[in-house]
Amino acid sequence: MINYTKYCIIFFFLSIPLIIAVFWLNYSWLILLVFILLFITGLVIGSINIRSDFYFKTMCKGNNQTNSISLTFDDGPNQNITPIILNILKENGIKACFFCIGKNAEQNIELIKRIDSEGHIIGNHTYSHSNNFDLFSSSKMKNEITKTNYTIQNIINKEVKYFRPPYGVTNPNLSKALKKTNLISIGWSLRSLDTTAKGDITNTLKRLEKIKAGNIVLLHDNITEAPEILEKFITIVRAKNLKFMRLDELISIGLM
Ligand SMILES: [Zn+2]
Repeated sequence: MINYTKYCIIFFFLSIPLIIAVFWLNYSWLILLVFILLFITGLVIGSINIRSDFYFKTMCKGNNQTNSISLTFDDGPNQNITPIILNILKENGIKACFFCIGKNAEQNIELIKRIDSEGHIIGNHTYSHSNNFDLFSSSKMKNEITKTNYTIQNIINKEVKYFRPPYGVTNPNLSKALKKTNLISIGWSLRSLDTTAKGDITNTLKRLEKIKAGNIVLLHDNITEAPEILEKFITIVRAKNLKFMRLDELISIGLM
């Protein structure tokens, strides 16, 4: 798929004849306006589609030859929900990845320790998870990411390796910030849309029925429906004879 740099170069060269046509040959300036709108639309599509690798490489799936899938939980830890999720994972012998928000980690130190001690991975999901995160400067983004790394590393005494962009939105500033932190960006290949469940998990389960080998699944451990969704999803996965594999293992197979 085309990346940001190539996209800008192509549009730059396409703009030259259009500028000549509008300013020297008196074609309608609307042509230029449509062209600019097309350019912006392309940037927006690249930003909201984490699987496009438009601004930087994001790992969104593992090797499907493994016959395995990987669970990821965003936006925790949550003092009420995360312990129940951890109990279910333990009972079923499943290792997952928790993309934690830095300020939540600071307020739930024992929970962070428990996630780590039970064999799960802890990833970085920014410090504030601000609604405006995508409008931050690259240095402000880097500060958020670095602060979260320090917070988690100080608790578990392990290096944080993985980062998940909030809402899956990417842009050039995040690309610059991530380059300075050496984190690996992780997306997903199956989005449960569990945060929209609001008491009715029917649609979430319908989406999760589409699970395939190699999928990285996006779930959340800060919603009340999370335990029920997880228990039902485990049944779905096992009915399809798929196995659970921790994120680092799933994405490393095939890269060696
Ligand atoms: Zn999030």
